[in-house]
Amino acid sequence: MAITKTDFMRGMQCEKMLWLDKHKPGLRLIPPEIQARLDAGNDFGDRAMSMFGPYEEMTVYRPGTTIPDKKAMLARTQEHLSLGTPVICEAAFSNYNNYCAVDLLRKTETGYDMYEVKNAPEVYEQFVRDAGFQYYIVTRCGVRIGHVFLVIHGPDEENPFLPVDITKQAKDCYSWINEHIWALNRLQKEPEEPPTQPGSQCTEPYACWYYDYCHGLNKPAEQLAIDDLTDQTPR
Ligand code: SF4
Repeated sequence: MAITKTDFMRGMQCEKMLWLDKHKPGLRLIPPEIQARLDAGNDFGDRAMSMFGPYEEMTVYRPGTTIPDKKAMLARTQEHLSLGTPVICEAAFSNYNNYCAVDLLRKTETGYDMYEVKNAPEVYEQFVRDAGFQYYIVTRCGVRIGHVFLVIHGPDEENPFLPVDITKQAKDCYSWINEHIWALNRLQKEPEEPPTQPGSQCTEPYACWYYDYCHGLNKPAEQLAIDDLTDQTPR
């Protein structure tokens, strides 16, 4: 068990949230409107894959499921990096088992530019950190990244994919991520639930799906599997 982009973002909001994800995910209650927003984000991301024309997608599922086969995705990504494929979508990388899948890599003369797609009308700080996490993993895997872009939902519905250059902000996250990623790795393996008390982190930047559990509201629990839980718009 190591840290994915989603784990990192959730663990930085609240350590207990990450711990519950690993040990008691059945306690999550995802409001229908949030689920709908996540689904819309996935659809926007799928359409963005072709924003630069032909592309190769690295997604591989375990047979008979919709669970990503990360090992196969890592191997496929390495193959396409070796081939010099111009546009690679859902490119998978792992460093000491910490993992991310990049929405889109576009080849340049010196390496690749990285694009993180968000179905939102503006750039939020959370999105920059999200892209920063991917930059951290990808560069530690030896890939040279020139620019980092967030692709947000622009006003032109005919062509809604609007890249915003966040290279400096994303690269500036490197040290901050390195300071926290190893502690989160250790925390998620702890046998005991962290004694974190509810507070402002329960609603900012994202509403926590363990709210009822931590606040003693005894509604029935349900478990929902979602690949990427960071494609929400912060509150
Ligand atoms: S409800 Fe609050 S304390 Fe509980 S896991 Fe979520 S953010 Fe952490």
